[in-house]
Amino acid sequence: MKIYNTLSKKKEEFVPHEQGKVSIYVCGPTVYNLIHIGNARPMIIFDTVRRYMEHKGWQVNYVSNFTDVDDKIIKKAQEEGVESSVISERYIEECKKDMKALNVKTATVHPKATEEIDGMQQMIKTLLENGNAYVAKDGTVYFKTRSFRDYGKLSHKNLDDLRGGNRSLLVSGEDQKEDPLDFVLWKPKKEGEPFWESPWCEGRPGWHIECSVMSKKYLGDEIDIHAGGEDLIFPHHENEIAQSEAANGKPFARYWMHNGFLNIDNKKMSKSAGNFFTVRDIGEKYDLQVLRFFMLSAHYRSPLNFSAELMEAAKNGYERIVTSVSNLNYLLEKAQGDTMRGEEEKLAEEAKGFADKFDAAMEDDFNTADAISAIFELVKFANTNASEESSAAFIKALKEEIVTLSDICGLLVEKAEEMLDEEIEQLIEERQAARKAKNFARADEIRNMLSERGILLEDTREGVKWKRA
Ligand code: AMP
Ligand code: ZN
Repeated sequence: MKIYNTLSKKKEEFVPHEQGKVSIYVCGPTVYNLIHIGNARPMIIFDTVRRYMEHKGWQVNYVSNFTDVDDKIIKKAQEEGVESSVISERYIEECKKDMKALNVKTATVHPKATEEIDGMQQMIKTLLENGNAYVAKDGTVYFKTRSFRDYGKLSHKNLDDLRGGNRSLLVSGEDQKEDPLDFVLWKPKKEGEPFWESPWCEGRPGWHIECSVMSKKYLGDEIDIHAGGEDLIFPHHENEIAQSEAANGKPFARYWMHNGFLNIDNKKMSKSAGNFFTVRDIGEKYDLQVLRFFMLSAHYRSPLNFSAELMEAAKNGYERIVTSVSNLNYLLEKAQGDTMRGEEEKLAEEAKGFADKFDAAMEDDFNTADAISAIFELVKFANTNASEESSAAFIKALKEEIVTLSDICGLLVEKAEEMLDEEIEQLIEERQAARKAKNFARADEIRNMLSERGILLEDTREGVKWKRA
């Protein structure tokens, strides 16, 4: 498997640290608002990377954080007159709903910055002891970039140019910095802000330290893949490398993956310019599977333009797969024969070639655009070769291949037929009878079956009530 590594600016053979196991850390969102479709891009891309690796039989340890202490969260909390945890908890819950709707798997761990303050203080202490950080007069702790020889290795930046030319690195209020490239590890609280006790001042962490600490805690000092959007390369990821490698004395992440930016109508996404969509906005117009399909239809490193036309094209593409599976299901209901006949064996073998094509595309730095083309070729093949004369075994083989490949992309292509009210009520009656007969296993089975189809049961004093989830 080849992965483009931002560190070497090359596609490299991917070899996990431990055979069969992969550790991935993906920088997650700052939770002060509903997530926008730009935030959804890394979620979908790296979830697909994870799914493909799991499909290969690798065990993936996937960590993605929520940044729940930040200026934007504090500002919003002040506007609403609530604690900042009210804002962050609200948007973590909303973000999780969006992830579910996008079929993004829950991470192995979703750590939150505010729950990892001890670990951050510990790492800051180590950096101070190692001479990689210093405390300014007002209690701010800065990382001393000059003390870390490799600073700039990820972003391939020339440090002297950065120091001399980039005045914007001198943020106001940070005039106690020794060097414009030094960055904050811990800073004093301001009036009305959340804060924690520390040896340096009552205050809160800088942004970068949380990811170094969470990555170490949940995945160890050395990890396989660290990922996020390309805006994070500098300074966030550069600073994470400096902190982690200076504190741990070991190389941090071996492969750095970055997704390109999502633009709207060829312009940078901007709230004030009016070209800005949340995932929720898109969910009102489209099945969010279409958004997922849209994101995967381009290479993850390329910039991606979002427009109404391109979404319509994505809708058509996604529906082509769904329709094909639905046709195969229709044929399957009528078909007979558990064994393939005539030419079918040969055709089924030929169909496996599309899965090989799919794998080859994914192995080449996750070229999901080509992987989806392979699914389309398979769909065309299935549409041409499956008929009312086909055996059930043959149709099943074609359908399973389409569903499996789509599933690796996290695309749900087999729609559960909506259950009719009478069917539901009949099953509820059967469950009541089973309970009366003390056949609780059957009663539970029916409840689970209904729940899988999105029907929720509630046992009330007036009897059983049901609703669609
Ligand atoms: P943030 O909440 O701004 O820290 O962003 C969370 C994640 O979304 C990071 O990995 C960002 O790089 C990514 N991201 C933000 N905006 C975009 C965008 N327009 N296109 C692609 N990725 C983005
Ligand atoms: Zn991060």
